[in-house]
Amino acid sequence: MKLILFGGTFDPVHRGHIQVARYSFEKICADKLIFVPAKRSPHKGNFPVASGEHRLNMLSIAAESIDNFVVSDLELERPDPSYTIDTVTAFKEKYGKETQIFWLIGADTVEDLPKWHRIKDLIDACNLSVMYRAGFKKPDFTVFREHLGENRIDKLGKHVISTPLVDISSTEIREKLSRGVDVCDLLESDVIRYIRQNNLYGS
Ligand code: ATP
Repeated sequence: MKLILFGGTFDPVHRGHIQVARYSFEKICADKLIFVPAKRSPHKGNFPVASGEHRLNMLSIAAESIDNFVVSDLELERPDPSYTIDTVTAFKEKYGKETQIFWLIGADTVEDLPKWHRIKDLIDACNLSVMYRAGFKKPDFTVFREHLGENRIDKLGKHVISTPLVDISSTEIREKLSRGVDVCDLLESDVIRYIRQNNLYGS
Protein backbone atom coordinates (compact mmCIF):
# COMPACT_ATOMS: atom_id res chain seq x y z
CA MET A 1 0.00 0.00 0.00
CA LYS A 2 1.14 3.52 -0.78
CA LEU A 3 -0.01 6.10 1.73
CA ILE A 4 0.41 9.85 1.24
CA LEU A 5 0.48 12.14 4.26
CA PHE A 6 -0.02 15.83 3.55
CA GLY A 7 0.78 18.02 6.56
CA GLY A 8 0.36 21.76 6.97
CA THR A 9 -1.58 24.41 8.81
CA PHE A 10 -4.33 24.61 6.14
CA ASP A 11 -5.48 28.00 7.42
CA PRO A 12 -7.61 27.62 5.29
CA VAL A 13 -7.22 24.70 2.86
CA HIS A 14 -7.25 26.11 -0.70
CA ARG A 15 -7.46 24.97 -4.33
CA GLY A 16 -3.63 24.92 -4.52
CA HIS A 17 -3.47 22.27 -1.79
CA ILE A 18 -6.18 20.22 -3.47
CA GLN A 19 -4.71 20.46 -6.95
CA VAL A 20 -1.17 19.41 -5.94
CA ALA A 21 -2.58 16.68 -3.69
CA ARG A 22 -4.63 15.23 -6.56
CA TYR A 23 -1.66 15.43 -8.95
CA SER A 24 0.70 13.75 -6.46
CA PHE A 25 -1.86 11.04 -5.75
CA GLU A 26 -1.98 10.13 -9.46
CA LYS A 27 1.80 10.39 -9.95
CA ILE A 28 2.58 8.18 -6.97
CA CYS A 29 -0.29 5.77 -7.82
CA ALA A 30 -1.23 6.01 -4.16
CA ASP A 31 -4.00 4.13 -2.38
CA LYS A 32 -4.89 6.77 0.16
CA LEU A 33 -4.09 10.40 1.02
CA ILE A 34 -4.46 11.75 4.55
CA PHE A 35 -4.40 15.47 5.32
CA VAL A 36 -2.72 16.02 8.68
CA PRO A 37 -3.41 19.54 9.97
CA ALA A 38 -0.83 20.76 12.49
CA LYS A 39 -1.67 22.44 15.77
CA ARG A 40 0.93 24.95 14.67
CA SER A 41 3.92 24.72 12.38
CA PRO A 42 7.27 24.49 14.20
CA HIS A 43 8.64 26.36 11.14
CA LYS A 44 6.30 29.36 11.25
CA GLY A 45 6.66 32.15 13.79
CA ASN A 46 2.93 32.74 14.11
CA PHE A 47 0.04 30.62 15.34
CA PRO A 48 -2.76 29.68 12.93
CA VAL A 49 -5.62 32.18 12.80
CA ALA A 50 -8.47 29.63 12.78
CA SER A 51 -8.80 27.00 15.52
CA GLY A 52 -7.71 23.42 14.95
CA GLU A 53 -11.36 22.38 14.93
CA HIS A 54 -12.29 24.84 12.16
CA ARG A 55 -9.25 23.92 10.06
CA LEU A 56 -10.08 20.22 10.46
CA ASN A 57 -13.71 20.84 9.47
CA MET A 58 -12.69 22.84 6.36
CA LEU A 59 -10.33 20.03 5.32
CA SER A 60 -13.07 17.44 5.84
CA ILE A 61 -15.41 19.49 3.65
CA ALA A 62 -12.77 19.82 0.91
CA ALA A 63 -11.79 16.13 1.05
CA GLU A 64 -15.18 14.49 1.34
CA SER A 65 -15.98 14.54 -2.37
CA ILE A 66 -12.58 13.10 -3.39
CA ASP A 67 -12.16 9.31 -3.41
CA ASN A 68 -9.51 8.00 -0.99
CA PHE A 69 -8.83 11.45 0.53
CA VAL A 70 -9.37 11.67 4.30
CA VAL A 71 -8.33 13.87 7.22
CA SER A 72 -6.59 12.98 10.49
CA ASP A 73 -6.71 14.85 13.80
CA LEU A 74 -3.60 13.08 15.10
CA GLU A 75 -1.40 16.19 15.35
CA LEU A 76 -4.21 18.35 16.73
CA GLU A 77 -4.77 15.88 19.55
CA ARG A 78 -1.10 15.60 20.48
CA PRO A 79 0.73 17.95 22.84
CA ASP A 80 2.75 20.73 21.23
CA PRO A 81 5.22 20.73 19.50
CA SER A 82 4.31 18.07 17.02
CA TYR A 83 7.18 16.93 14.82
CA THR A 84 6.81 15.27 11.43
CA ILE A 85 9.09 12.38 12.38
CA ASP A 86 6.77 11.53 15.29
CA THR A 87 3.72 11.66 13.05
CA VAL A 88 5.33 9.45 10.41
CA THR A 89 6.36 6.97 13.12
CA ALA A 90 2.78 6.88 14.46
CA PHE A 91 1.35 6.20 10.98
CA LYS A 92 4.00 3.52 10.33
CA GLU A 93 2.96 1.74 13.51
CA LYS A 94 -0.69 1.99 12.54
CA TYR A 95 -0.36 0.85 8.92
CA GLY A 96 2.49 -1.67 9.28
CA LYS A 97 5.76 -2.36 7.51
CA GLU A 98 4.20 -3.18 4.14
CA THR A 99 2.95 0.40 3.76
CA GLN A 100 5.14 2.91 1.93
CA ILE A 101 4.69 6.40 3.34
CA PHE A 102 5.09 9.58 1.28
CA TRP A 103 5.16 12.93 3.11
CA LEU A 104 4.32 15.89 0.85
CA ILE A 105 5.88 19.33 1.19
CA GLY A 106 5.95 22.36 -1.08
CA ALA A 107 9.19 23.72 -2.57
CA ASP A 108 8.90 26.80 -0.32
CA THR A 109 9.90 24.66 2.66
CA VAL A 110 13.08 23.20 1.14
CA GLU A 111 15.35 25.96 2.42
CA ASP A 112 14.40 25.14 6.02
CA LEU A 113 14.72 21.37 5.70
CA PRO A 114 18.10 21.07 7.46
CA LYS A 115 16.53 22.74 10.52
CA TRP A 116 13.68 20.20 10.78
CA HIS A 117 13.69 18.05 13.91
CA ARG A 118 15.61 14.78 13.21
CA ILE A 119 15.58 15.50 9.47
CA LYS A 120 17.94 12.61 8.66
CA ASP A 121 15.67 10.13 10.45
CA LEU A 122 12.67 11.61 8.66
CA ILE A 123 14.26 11.22 5.20
CA ASP A 124 15.17 7.62 6.10
CA ALA A 125 11.75 6.80 7.56
CA CYS A 126 9.57 7.88 4.62
CA ASN A 127 9.66 9.22 1.07
CA LEU A 128 9.84 12.95 1.65
CA SER A 129 8.32 14.26 -1.58
CA VAL A 130 8.86 17.88 -2.56
CA MET A 131 6.27 19.43 -4.89
CA TYR A 132 6.84 22.42 -7.14
CA ARG A 133 5.35 25.70 -5.93
CA ALA A 134 4.68 28.90 -7.88
CA GLY A 135 7.12 31.66 -6.94
CA PHE A 136 9.77 29.26 -5.63
CA LYS A 137 12.79 27.66 -7.31
CA LYS A 138 12.67 24.05 -8.40
CA PRO A 139 14.11 22.07 -5.49
CA ASP A 140 17.88 21.70 -5.43
CA PHE A 141 19.23 19.62 -2.56
CA THR A 142 22.90 19.67 -3.53
CA VAL A 143 23.64 22.48 -1.06
CA PHE A 144 22.70 20.08 1.75
CA ARG A 145 25.08 17.36 0.56
CA GLU A 146 27.54 17.82 3.41
CA HIS A 147 24.84 17.99 6.06
CA LEU A 148 22.56 15.19 4.86
CA GLY A 149 24.91 12.92 2.93
CA GLU A 150 24.91 11.68 -0.65
CA ASN A 151 22.31 8.91 -0.24
CA ARG A 152 19.70 11.16 1.34
CA ILE A 153 20.24 13.83 -1.34
CA ASP A 154 19.69 11.16 -4.01
CA LYS A 155 16.55 9.95 -2.26
CA LEU A 156 15.11 13.47 -2.03
CA GLY A 157 15.89 14.09 -5.70
CA LYS A 158 14.12 10.89 -6.79
CA HIS A 159 10.92 11.88 -5.01
CA VAL A 160 10.49 15.40 -6.38
CA ILE A 161 7.00 15.78 -7.91
CA SER A 162 6.68 18.27 -10.75
CA THR A 163 3.23 19.46 -9.75
CA PRO A 164 1.47 22.17 -11.78
CA LEU A 165 2.23 25.67 -10.50
CA VAL A 166 -0.81 26.97 -8.65
CA ASP A 167 -0.18 30.47 -7.40
CA ILE A 168 -2.36 30.42 -4.28
CA SER A 169 -1.49 30.73 -0.59
CA SER A 170 -3.55 30.75 2.60
CA THR A 171 -1.93 34.09 3.52
CA GLU A 172 -3.31 35.69 0.34
CA ILE A 173 -6.75 34.24 1.05
CA ARG A 174 -6.87 35.44 4.67
CA GLU A 175 -5.83 38.89 3.55
CA LYS A 176 -8.45 39.01 0.76
CA LEU A 177 -11.22 37.75 3.04
CA SER A 178 -10.45 40.42 5.63
CA ARG A 179 -10.75 43.09 2.91
CA GLY A 180 -13.95 41.58 1.50
CA VAL A 181 -12.29 40.69 -1.82
CA ASP A 182 -13.79 37.81 -3.85
CA VAL A 183 -11.99 34.48 -3.28
CA CYS A 184 -14.23 32.19 -5.34
CA ASP A 185 -11.37 31.10 -7.61
CA LEU A 186 -9.08 30.27 -4.70
CA LEU A 187 -11.23 28.08 -2.45
CA GLU A 188 -13.75 25.27 -2.79
CA SER A 189 -17.26 26.76 -2.64
CA ASP A 190 -18.30 24.65 0.38
CA VAL A 191 -15.21 25.85 2.25
CA ILE A 192 -16.15 29.48 1.47
CA ARG A 193 -19.65 28.79 2.81
CA TYR A 194 -18.15 27.35 6.02
CA ILE A 195 -15.87 30.39 6.43
CA ARG A 196 -18.81 32.78 6.05
CA GLN A 197 -21.10 30.79 8.36
CA ASN A 198 -18.45 30.81 11.09
CA ASN A 199 -17.23 34.39 10.51
CA LEU A 200 -13.64 33.27 10.03
CA TYR A 201 -10.77 35.52 8.90
CA GLY A 202 -12.81 38.70 9.39
CA SER A 203 -14.96 37.73 6.40
P1 ATP B 1 0.42 30.23 4.53
O1 ATP B 1 0.25 31.21 3.39
O2 ATP B 1 -0.49 30.49 5.71
O3 ATP B 1 1.88 30.07 4.93
P2 ATP B 1 0.23 27.95 2.70
O4 ATP B 1 -0.64 28.40 1.59
O5 ATP B 1 1.71 27.86 2.45
O6 ATP B 1 -0.06 28.80 4.02
P3 ATP B 1 0.21 25.55 4.30
O7 ATP B 1 -0.97 24.99 5.00
O8 ATP B 1 1.27 26.17 5.11
O9 ATP B 1 -0.34 26.57 3.19
O10 ATP B 1 0.82 24.45 3.33
C1 ATP B 1 0.90 23.08 3.64
C2 ATP B 1 1.86 22.45 2.66
O11 ATP B 1 1.38 22.62 1.33
C3 ATP B 1 3.26 23.09 2.68
O12 ATP B 1 4.22 22.06 2.51
C4 ATP B 1 3.24 24.03 1.48
O13 ATP B 1 4.52 24.19 0.95
C5 ATP B 1 2.33 23.27 0.52
N1 ATP B 1 1.60 24.17 -0.36
C6 ATP B 1 0.70 25.13 -0.01
N2 ATP B 1 0.22 25.77 -1.08
C7 ATP B 1 0.81 25.21 -2.15
C8 ATP B 1 0.74 25.47 -3.57
N3 ATP B 1 -0.04 26.43 -4.07
N4 ATP B 1 1.52 24.71 -4.39
C9 ATP B 1 2.33 23.75 -3.88
N5 ATP B 1 2.45 23.46 -2.55
C10 ATP B 1 1.71 24.19 -1.70
